[in-house]
Amino acid sequence: MTLAWIGLGSNLADPQAQVRSGIEALAHLPGSAIRAQSSLYRSKPLGNLAQPDYINAVVSIETALPPFELLHALQTIERDHGRDRSGSRWSPRTLDLDLLLYGDSQILSDELTIPHPGIPQRNFVLCPLLEIDSKMRIPGWGPAREILERIGMQGIEKLKRPDS
Ligand code: ATP
Ligand code: CA
Ligand code: CA
Repeated sequence: MTLAWIGLGSNLADPQAQVRSGIEALAHLPGSAIRAQSSLYRSKPLGNLAQPDYINAVVSIETALPPFELLHALQTIERDHGRDRSGSRWSPRTLDLDLLLYGDSQILSDELTIPHPGIPQRNFVLCPLLEIDSKMRIPGWGPAREILERIGMQGIEKLKRPDS
């Protein structure tokens, strides 16, 4: 079993519900169990496209799925949530599931790069990662805390848990 980390994002069709439903779908992945989940965060979109704010979260799962099988399972969940891949990168989406980390693995291919190459520039990923594991290290990059301190917290807001 490997501890894998998944970043969720949505900015269409009730983003908070999309992200919650995405987490629910992760709980049902074969050979996998959720270990921890972050709060939800609101973040400003990447790129210059005018589009709604995002809701983001990070989940860690213990999984027996090998990395490419896990990626394909995540893409199936995206499709089940109506993800339309006709837009450009960073265009609005109902649900985006990025495979952030897979144990200590480093993988470099077009189809799958791990650690996810966006992590070091994205406070909406680093912040929820650190909420779950304050000592998190990104293989090849170092302590997540130091990276977040460098890039800062601009544009993100942690949402209150509905039950707190
Ligand atoms: P970004 O990858 O910068 O967050 P995005 O999520 O909008 O942008 P997508 O359109 O969802 O990008 O994915 C583009 C391609 O990225 C996918 O076809 C997938 O094969 C590839 N990819 C490479 N590494 C990963 C990874 N770690 N997690 C998810 N997809 C990945
Ligand atoms: Ca993404
Ligand atoms: Ca993606």
